[in-house]
Amino acid sequence: MFNNLKPILKTPSVVDELSGKFFYKKSVKNLSWFKAGGVLEYLYIPKNETDLSILLNELIPSIELTIFGKLSNTLIRDGGLSGLSILMPSDFKKLTHKEQNILNVGSGALDKEVAKKSIDFQIGGLEFLSGIPGTIGGGIFMNAGCYGSEFKDIVLDVNFLNRNGKKIKKKAKEIDFKYRESNIPKDLIITSVNLMGFKKNKEEIKRKICEISKKRISSQPQGCPTGGSTFKNYKNYKAWELISKLGVSNLRCGGAMISDLHNNFMINTGKAKASDFENLGEIIIDKVQSQFGIKLEWEIQILGKNGKN
Ligand SMILES: Cc1cc2nc3c(=O)[nH]c(=O)nc-3n(C[C@H](O)[C@H](O)[C@H](O)COP(=O)(O)OP(=O)(O)OC[C@H]3O[C@@H](n4cnc5c(N)ncnc54)[C@H](O)[C@@H]3O)c2cc1C
Repeated sequence: MFNNLKPILKTPSVVDELSGKFFYKKSVKNLSWFKAGGVLEYLYIPKNETDLSILLNELIPSIELTIFGKLSNTLIRDGGLSGLSILMPSDFKKLTHKEQNILNVGSGALDKEVAKKSIDFQIGGLEFLSGIPGTIGGGIFMNAGCYGSEFKDIVLDVNFLNRNGKKIKKKAKEIDFKYRESNIPKDLIITSVNLMGFKKNKEEIKRKICEISKKRISSQPQGCPTGGSTFKNYKNYKAWELISKLGVSNLRCGGAMISDLHNNFMINTGKAKASDFENLGEIIIDKVQSQFGIKLEWEIQILGKNGKN
């Protein structure tokens, strides 16, 4: 299988040094939270940072590079995504308690796992991570957040590998974190991060995590394929409120449907294509624009080519 990697490497024999997992034309249906979408042309799941660095150093310059965590905020169009995709779970989950209120966390760690660990170390301020289903890397890139907290509040500094496999470190203040976005360049790979909270009693942290979980269960669809919030809020307007005024609960486009529990969530009713989600989203954008004069912006990252799958 590694032979398929050779065309995108400067020195094809380097494949012998690689120890991660490689896939050619891998469908995202079982990788993405939407359970829909096309194929990733080349997919590599690195074993560790050294392995990833060897691969990056050998990549031909023309190959497009895309990094993923859990694909909980990403829709890959049905025609698939060209170039090399890197998925970051594997060995990037390490979590170390550095100093009193600082955790060093691998970018592949799940936000939920980090929230759980914050109980053991009695570090407050990380509870909101329990409500986000992605990885730490995806969360930093997106400046993900909920219930009044976001990554921007807890990131101290971030370690990256650049496209050539070279290590780079940035302090939080060197990164422009905005509402559900950052200015991190697409070809910088987040490998680990120092997160800082504050001293907090274990029981209080547990209580807050429990509160978040209850809020989620009562307000968001559970157990069905979705990408979470589809659109960003617009200034002081909540996207879900605007959409709910349209009366579009259960509106469908192919297999994609607007959740009646949370109108800013689209769910896969079974066999949705990526195009069903994109078309449904565009219908909502048009309706909100014509009714309220507001152009909603996608929070979901949509990548790849249109086409059949
Ligand atoms: C049920 C549900 C609930 C959700 N609730 C929330 C919520 O409350 N708040 C919120 O903000 N979001 C929420 N989301 C969206 C999503 O979980 C977050 O945006 C999350 O941070 C994405 O992480 P991920 O690992 O899945 O990223 P992916 O979807 O894999 O990637 C997202 C973006 O980050 C980039 N990226 C990922 N990993 C790296 C890396 N290591 N280095 C560089 N770039 C990287 C990708 O290229 C992509 O552009 C929800 C999603 C679902 C399905």
